[in-house]
Formats: sequence, structure tokens, C-alpha cells
Amino acid sequence: MPRKPPRRTRAVAIVEPHAQPVVPLRNRRLNFGGKWIYAPAPETVPVPLQSRYDLFIGGKFVAPKSGGYFPSLNPANEKQLAEIATAERADVDAAVAAARRAYDKVWSKMPGRERGKYLYRIARILQEKARELAVLETMDGGKPIKESRDFDLPQVAAHFFYHAGWADKLRYAFPGRTPRPVGVCGQIIPWNFPLLMAAWKLAPALACGNTCVLKPAETTSITAMHLAQIFREAELPDGVLNIITGAGETGRALVEHPGVDKLAFTGSTDVGKLLAKAVTGTGKKLTLELGGKAAHLIFEDAPIDQAVEGVVAGIFFNQGHVCCAGSRLLVQEGIYATVLRKLRDRIATLRVGDPLDKNTDIGAINSRPQLEKIRSLVDAGVEEGGELIQTQCALPERGYWFPPSLITGVTASHRIAQEEIFGPVLSVMTFRTPEEAIERANNTPYGLSAGVWTDKGSKIFKMVSKLRAGVVWANTYNKFDPTSPFGGYKESGWGREGGVHGLMAYVW
Ligand code: NDP
Repeated sequence: MPRKPPRRTRAVAIVEPHAQPVVPLRNRRLNFGGKWIYAPAPETVPVPLQSRYDLFIGGKFVAPKSGGYFPSLNPANEKQLAEIATAERADVDAAVAAARRAYDKVWSKMPGRERGKYLYRIARILQEKARELAVLETMDGGKPIKESRDFDLPQVAAHFFYHAGWADKLRYAFPGRTPRPVGVCGQIIPWNFPLLMAAWKLAPALACGNTCVLKPAETTSITAMHLAQIFREAELPDGVLNIITGAGETGRALVEHPGVDKLAFTGSTDVGKLLAKAVTGTGKKLTLELGGKAAHLIFEDAPIDQAVEGVVAGIFFNQGHVCCAGSRLLVQEGIYATVLRKLRDRIATLRVGDPLDKNTDIGAINSRPQLEKIRSLVDAGVEEGGELIQTQCALPERGYWFPPSLITGVTASHRIAQEEIFGPVLSVMTFRTPEEAIERANNTPYGLSAGVWTDKGSKIFKMVSKLRAGVVWANTYNKFDPTSPFGGYKESGWGREGGVHGLMAYVW
């Protein structure tokens, strides 16, 4: 029988009309050209900005005894937004006295379920006013509206809701004990998350039956005063919350005040150390949430694109003004070139500019002194041998701006690898083995947070148990929840905020 001829296959070239030559994968680049330019989309929600803000003492807005006010600027255009009262020692005395009266007469005696009702009410009003508060936060601090709207304000409300739930259940948080409130709490907060840091401090303190004197940062006091208005709207008894505005001297007067039973501070490690010295021997309770120099580790087996997104979010969120910002990137040597290329491409797409525009990724630096600090640390990084890689984006003429930046060739002894920069600048280093990564990651005076990217669960557990950091994120970064405790090791602070652990600071 004659054999069938074998079937022959033939390669057929499919030629499309406008076919592009195929670029090998390793040579591909993200090149958006001008295609990603967005039309301006600024926020248009009207905000009830006042031209002047007084102190909030004993349930009333009162002028400072000295009659002094200082300007609060919009860091995106350097224009004055409002005048803020300067509280001096006499005002601090009045605020602490009002908090003491409210503590003795009302708040410490009120059943937890009643305190909880006030906190729920505050949380709901915060949700109703979230949009205008987000706009004010962005105008006063410089952060992009998409962050204040989608991160800060939802978290602020969530902290009040969460702690409202604890107010009548404290016995379950501390089984076998009858927790008692501490008394009058002095709370000093920074400028990077003004409303959120106020919520972190006030919600647990009030839930536990304490009264508060809050001192916001000099450059970002406006939203705290709007929070005071919300507390009035919620009909919180007079004196339960008092707000004194001013600079470091006002904070110092609060720290040294003998009528304060507990201090809670978030800010720089230098000022935290001053507080630790000031309260020694006074019997005051103290919690400190200080600086950080987080290491972000990427292993060769990590999903690289996701890791690069996580690293970008970890350092450029809020212009890098974040205590847990992943400002040191440690990449395993075999993937260094790939990660660096992807990072360069990605940061070239970040939009820097008007913080009130919904498409802005990176807003204004909070103040001129902070901008100068970032510049001087970057200069030191270059002088010490690092290579600076910056995006070529155009920056607005007025206001305080710094482009997203990478510094490569950094070694552990460089200042840029040791000091908190609090700006949009990522120091990039490499490692070979997990042991080396741990050694390098732990090699700073800080221990607030860290990030690990790997495909292996066992590697995650190994790294997490050896990294000396209060929070370690695995295959993600910057995830926050009021139920989860946050705080540091070493020079990053004492105590925890959030969750059951956060309540401990506010009870005996
Ligand atoms: P500070 O630590 O000086 O400020 C934090 C708060 O403490 C502010 O309300 C501040 O008031 C107040 N304060 C300042 N001095 C005293 C004092 N002697 N006694 C009591 N309270 C005081 O931070 P800076 O604003 O000066 O920022 C400097 C650096 O600190 C940043 O570059 C960053 O590295 C780091 N930082 C870290 C933060 C974190 O979350 N870990 C937050 C903010 C800053 P006022 O601002 O009105 O002067």
C-alpha cells in the first residue's frame, strides 16, 4: 500500500498592517511620552476656613492671654491661610485646670456606655464632614487630596468608632482587673498626619475616661481647631478636650506642667529624649512614638512588579513625611539591575504638584525648614559617594517642593542610611544572603517598621522574627488599622498605639 506523504507544517508569518518590530523584554521601557498628561482637576468643595483661630479651653474658643498669633501658611503656595493663637504658660495652666475639673466632676465618673455614645457621635460627624476636613488638611499640610480624602479621614473616623466600642468593655480588655483612668493627658502631635495623630491620641484616652490637653504642631493646627468644633457639636462636656496651639515652647510648658498625669508624644527622637528626661522622677506616664529608618527588603524570589509598587508607596506616600516610611531599600544582588530599572521608570510617572488636584501623587513639603533638612541630607548623601537619581518633572515656582529621588551606592555608614530624612528620597543598597539583609536592616538606632518581599512563607517568618522593628509588613506596606498596635523598638519609642495594647497607656 502506498504510504501517505507526511503532513508538512509550514511557518506562516502574520504580517499586520502597522506591525512594530518586537522589542526584547529586557530592553522594554515604560515610555509614556506626553500621553499621561492629565487635565487639571482641582478640588472645588468650599471649606469653612477662618481667618483666625483661638485656643479651645473649657469648651470655649478663647483668645490667648498674651494676645499673640502666628501665621499658618499653605506650603503649596506660601500664602497665609489663617492666624493661629500662641498659647503661653498661663493658657496651658487654664487648659490643664479645665481638663482637671472635667475629669473630677464629669468624665471619670460617667459610665463607659455613655462615654461611648459621645465617641460614636464624634465619629459620625467626622464622616459627615470628611470631605471639607480633607481639603483643609491638604491646604494646611501639603499632602495630596487623594491621600487626605481616602486614607487620613477614613482612618480618623475608624479610630473613634473602634475606641467608642471599647468604652464600656474595658474589663474585657484587662481581665481580672478593674481598669481606672489615668487622669489628665497632655498630648503632643506632629505635622505629618495632623488629624490622624489627634485621633490616635484622643480616642483611646477619652474611651478610658481621661480628659485631654492637645498640642498640635505649629505648621498644622487648623484641622485640630475644626475637630474642636466637632466635639462641641457632639456636645462633649466642657473641658474634656482642650487644645492649645503654639510652637515647641507651648509643648514644653505642657510637658513640665505638674497637673498632667500622662504624656503622649509623636515626633522627633531628639524631642522625645527631652520629654523622657523631663518626666523622670515625676510619676507621669509616658508613651513616645518617634522616628524611623525602615528597611524595605526585596528577595530574588519576590514578585518584582508588586514589590516595586510597594516600595514606591512605602517611600513616596505623604512626600515621605511618614515615621514608618521605607526609606532604605535593600535589594538582593541578582535582581538589583532589574529593580533599579523598574523603580526609575515608575518614579518618572509620579505627578508632583498642586496637592488639591485629585491626580497629584506627590504634594508639597510641609515647611521650608523641612525642605532644607531634606536638601542637606541629600547633599550629604552625594558628598559621601552616593549617586542621585531624580525625576525631571517641572516643579511649581512657589511653595516647597522636592522631586521623587533615589540615591544608589549608599553604604550603612552614610548619614542618608542612618538619619531620618522625612522626605521623598529612597536610599538603595544591596545584600546577598538573608543573614546579611537582617544585619543591614537592623543597623540603625531606630526600630519602627520594616517590609519584606519574598515568595516564601518560611522566609517571611524567619525574617520577621529577626528584624528589630515594631511593625513588619510582608508583601505589602503601610497597612493600618485601629485594631492593630503600632510602635517602635530602640530609639523609635516606647509603648504602643492602637488595639488593646494602645489602651494600656490610658489606664492604671
Ligand atoms: P518635633 O519633634 O520638633 O515636633 C513634634 C511636636 O513636638 C510638635 O508639636 C512640636 O511643636 C513639639 N515640640 C517641639 N519641641 C518641643 C519641646 N521641647 N517640648 C515639647 N514639645 C515640643 O519635630 P519637627 O517638627 O521639628 O520635625 C523634625 C524632624 O522630626 C523631622 O524632620 C522628622 O525627621 C522628625 N519627625 C518625626 C515624626 C514622626 O512621626 N516620627 C513626626 C514629625 C517629625 P512645633 O512643631 O509646634 O514646634
